[in-house]
Amino acid sequence: MVCGAGIVGICSAIQLLKRGYRVTLLDRRGPAQETSYGNAGVISRGSVFPEAAPGIWRKIPGYLSNRKIEARVHYRYLKALSPWGIGVLRNSKPESYRSNLQALNIIVSACLDEHKKLLLASGAQNYLRENGWMKLFRRTNSFEASAGEQRQLAEYGIPFDTVSASDLRALEPSLQDIFCGGLLINNTASVSDPGAVGQHYADYFVAEGGTVVIDDIVRLQQQSGEWTVHTSNASLQCDHVLVSMGAWSRPLLEGMGYRVPLAVERGYHMHYQCDSPINRPVYDVDAGYVMSPMRRGIRVTTGVEWAAEDARPTPVQLRQVEPLVKQALSIRQQVDNEPWLGRRPCMPDSLPVIGMATRHSNLWLAFGHGHMGFSMGPITGRLIAEMITGARPIIDTAPFGLARFS
Ligand SMILES: Cc1cc2nc3c(=O)[nH]c(=O)nc-3n(C[C@H](O)[C@H](O)[C@H](O)COP(=O)(O)OP(=O)(O)OC[C@H]3O[C@@H](n4cnc5c(N)ncnc54)[C@H](O)[C@@H]3O)c2cc1C
Repeated sequence: MVCGAGIVGICSAIQLLKRGYRVTLLDRRGPAQETSYGNAGVISRGSVFPEAAPGIWRKIPGYLSNRKIEARVHYRYLKALSPWGIGVLRNSKPESYRSNLQALNIIVSACLDEHKKLLLASGAQNYLRENGWMKLFRRTNSFEASAGEQRQLAEYGIPFDTVSASDLRALEPSLQDIFCGGLLINNTASVSDPGAVGQHYADYFVAEGGTVVIDDIVRLQQQSGEWTVHTSNASLQCDHVLVSMGAWSRPLLEGMGYRVPLAVERGYHMHYQCDSPINRPVYDVDAGYVMSPMRRGIRVTTGVEWAAEDARPTPVQLRQVEPLVKQALSIRQQVDNEPWLGRRPCMPDSLPVIGMATRHSNLWLAFGHGHMGFSMGPITGRLIAEMITGARPIIDTAPFGLARFS
């Protein structure tokens, strides 16, 4: 039984089915309806830098002031956030940062190939663009400050080009002349509708013999080795359970005695009509938002809002970035009636949890993919299926066990 049908659960269900298991994919809303629906759709090769970087403590006062566009916090969430915050500070030591970066680099380097296999198998190749993504800088000092990142990209063999203002005019002629330069991360792809891609993957799972059930998971129970998944409407028996409920994995597992220092970093999106769109996703670094060309229009996604997963939406950042987007690109009216809200499930070391639970047999975990879950969904599915079947995983999974937080 796979609990949670975001991109991580769907891909895990496919991989288990391919290895001969009978698989039920259970979700209260249906496949790819939550965070996996509305993200920026970047399948990134360059995003290998953990949030917990040396010197991050200097940014904390700014974040807590709620004056930054890229990060805000609901103050009533601070208590629940503190185990994660302490973990971030621990992981920001240079040696932890370096080993987390290495582990992230290895898993991230496998993302695009695994997506491509599923895109092909599910008939969703038309959503894929392989023209990279860009980080653009408005201020010369920000561009210069990216020198450290450029050194690390080179060190880890991640292909990129520095882009001057005139290069940019050729690459993205629709952008206004407000950027002094940027980085084009090659080898990175994006999709024009991540929710539709997730739905294609789920349809493929069903076409291959998998079962999707829509129901609300209330609790998991193990008796004499057998698992029962209690939902609002039924009690479903199975041999193995995989928890892949994104941000909602923490409350479920804490009820079973696990310590899960997961923070919810919420983010919003809004689509805008645009007569002359950009060709690839762009991160406007100094303005703190990402814009991606999507089937529904230009999708503008916001930075981080630390808040409880089910707290009411407060799309302040979306209102703040709209005038900044208009400085960069000629957009027209909004397409959506309401802002969309998603929940990034973030671990203190920026590494996902992929592996076996420590207190129960045949309980498997795949969550905590933070800002990179759309990219990492297919490789996570492959790894968890290899672990469940006892095969040797294609990469070392030791850095991803939940036991690292014990
Ligand atoms: C604004 C924004 C932009 C992003 N951009 C990118 C990007 O460009 N590239 C990238 O790689 N990543 C990006 N991400 C991150 C990525 O979207 C997430 O990491 C990823 O979607 C997480 O997938 P998931 O399957 O773990 O969780 P989810 O997609 O959240 O799925 C969890 C599932 O569990 C289900 N569930 C929860 N509770 C229950 C219950 N009690 N019973 C039954 N079902 C339940 C939910 O309905 C949901 O379907 C972005 C995220 C945001 C918010």
